[in-house]
Amino acid sequence: MKKWASGIFTSIRGGLGAGLESVRDLGVSTVQLHAPAADHRSPERTAQLREEFARAGIGVTVVFAGFEDDDYATVERVKQTVGLVPKDRRARRLAEVLEISDFARRLEVEAIGMHLGFVPPNSADPEFDAVVAVTRQVCDHCAGNHQRFHLETGQETAKELLHFIQAVGRDNLAVNFDPANMILYGAGNPLEALDVVGPYVKSVHCKDASYTRKPGQPWYEDAPLGQGDVNIEACLRKLNELGYAGALTIEREYSPDQAGDLKAALALLESLRAKILGA
Ligand code: MG
Repeated sequence: MKKWASGIFTSIRGGLGAGLESVRDLGVSTVQLHAPAADHRSPERTAQLREEFARAGIGVTVVFAGFEDDDYATVERVKQTVGLVPKDRRARRLAEVLEISDFARRLEVEAIGMHLGFVPPNSADPEFDAVVAVTRQVCDHCAGNHQRFHLETGQETAKELLHFIQAVGRDNLAVNFDPANMILYGAGNPLEALDVVGPYVKSVHCKDASYTRKPGQPWYEDAPLGQGDVNIEACLRKLNELGYAGALTIEREYSPDQAGDLKAALALLESLRAKILGA
């Protein structure tokens, strides 16, 4: 894979055919894949998917795990419902994440990622140790599948995330850096975050967001890349200094013109790549 290969998120809904065509039409060579439902994770179905990606010349860089009953409506609901942190959902979700890791292995993907949820910031909280323990279980299972486990940024500050990563103490635990999430969750300045967790960054979401919310705008609504308060050029320059060579995966979640915004973001990344890498 070439350095900073362009990517987008994709998912398997009614079938991959149309999805992959539109990915190819955009001119990207990588995707991050939302983990599909269990009926698409069987060995037979996975072999088909692997074949379809190979034929399209598209590399899957990360399989992202999420759950039907994740609720992003408010930050409070995120705390209660997202990831492996909510205690009442943890065991069931752990089992599913391990299955997703096995699916990703069959797909020959070298990382899975997820929003882990709001890790308790205080390590004296007994739930902190419980979340460390469940994260070790995921890391160890992934290691058996020759994979890394990527934590999406944003729900904690970079310092808290670093502290958590060190507490887990597994070599295959890494960071999916999403600068926009840090703004949306109020988890600190994304550029400064790179000074703290930069060496752990193994995948990147090129997503933007504004600090200022317009009247009635939901807390989670992102912005077209380059039009929010994430300074994507500065982030990329810092990632370059850190030696980051992985994919740049564009994420544009809430847009009236998603296709248009993706194309504009791809053009922006192309020009920044030329400017920063001279390539
Ligand atoms: Mg993201």
